[in-house]
Amino acid sequence: QFPVPNANADSVRQAVASGQTTHEQEPATGFDAYLAAGGYRLLQECASGARTADAVIAEMENSQLRGLGGAGFPAGRKWRIVRNEPGPRLMAVNIDEGEPGTFKDRTYLERDPHRFLEGMLIAAWAVGIADIYVYLRDEYHGIRGFLEREIAMLQARPPIANMPRIHLRRGAGAYICGEESAMIESIEGKRGMPRLRPPYVAQVGLFGRPTLEHNFETLYWVRDILEKGGAWFSSHGRHGRKGLRSFSVSGRVKKPGVHLAPAGITIQELIDEFCGGMQDGHAFYAYLPGGASGGILPATMNDIPLDFDTLQPYGCFIGSAAVVVLSDQDKVTDAARNLMRFFRDESCGQCTPCRAGTAKTLQLIQHDHWDAALIGDLSQVMRDASICGLGQAAPNPVDCVIKYFPHELA
Ligand code: SF4
Repeated sequence: QFPVPNANADSVRQAVASGQTTHEQEPATGFDAYLAAGGYRLLQECASGARTADAVIAEMENSQLRGLGGAGFPAGRKWRIVRNEPGPRLMAVNIDEGEPGTFKDRTYLERDPHRFLEGMLIAAWAVGIADIYVYLRDEYHGIRGFLEREIAMLQARPPIANMPRIHLRRGAGAYICGEESAMIESIEGKRGMPRLRPPYVAQVGLFGRPTLEHNFETLYWVRDILEKGGAWFSSHGRHGRKGLRSFSVSGRVKKPGVHLAPAGITIQELIDEFCGGMQDGHAFYAYLPGGASGGILPATMNDIPLDFDTLQPYGCFIGSAAVVVLSDQDKVTDAARNLMRFFRDESCGQCTPCRAGTAKTLQLIQHDHWDAALIGDLSQVMRDASICGLGQAAPNPVDCVIKYFPHELA
């Protein structure tokens, strides 16, 4: 139904099997191939005045594209807000992709890096950006190698005059640097710790300047949306939701991978129609709808539309659409312990509710006799008093176990 890029894992496996190191990895579509297929024509149309910035922003708003890093802020509105701020304006692109279970950005980047770069340059043109900082996680060594080369080729043969400068910055393996203000601190050369807001990064961001911050995938869709029209993107969707979502599916399904599916699809539809069903010998038991922080739901709740805003009533969220499917051979108490250990290790430590709360919760769930009242109190404190989303969302899996899986707690 959709051009689903599921070849990524196979191509990486082939590269490894053939003795290539990841440093020798090549993008599926390089600069020349992208140009030959009509790439960068849209950017040239914009820069030549054939399209106005207002019309481009209006089309983005019409598409109803929302930030696909997890926060879901409407992309077109963000462009308009930053454009109205005084110059010089900067741009920060988040390719930290550290949410456990998320691998969609990597998949698209390995296939078609210039589709993302063109979207990024169109956003920069529409908003009036002087310098772009691309923050790539250090774990993506192979991608870094070819991205440096592809950006160098682009800069050597720029498709438009006065192209903004592009700076490729390396992350250093901290999950918290996927949070936009911590990423900005890291780009500035400081320890990656989230900032208190307001002020928002749109007003006071990178190096104190108004900053357009975007996840990789949000920019990846810009070219398709502007070529096919905003209505094309918003015409997809199910159960009253609009758009497309790239689900990174892992766990006990027959076909894990990145599945491009309508926003609002239910987990059962996703498993049946896109993932080839459950693996043989496994019965669907539970699922994580949004990576480590998005909570855990039982298989009996298999008819909830998966999208921004739809999961909040259940104490969950979709985030970057990393779906992990568990079977009757798994225990959610084990999953919750694993996730809380992750949050304890990845807490940046600057606020007590998160730093102490994750460690304390982990102690409280070491066995299967959980003190639900005490854990509930602690979760509430973390939710209310943590500075950023890590501490606020860290209790989600544990709270979901108490709420939806009491049979696992003795
Ligand atoms: Fe750091 Fe956790 Fe506080 Fe976020 S909530 S600022 S990760 S200590």
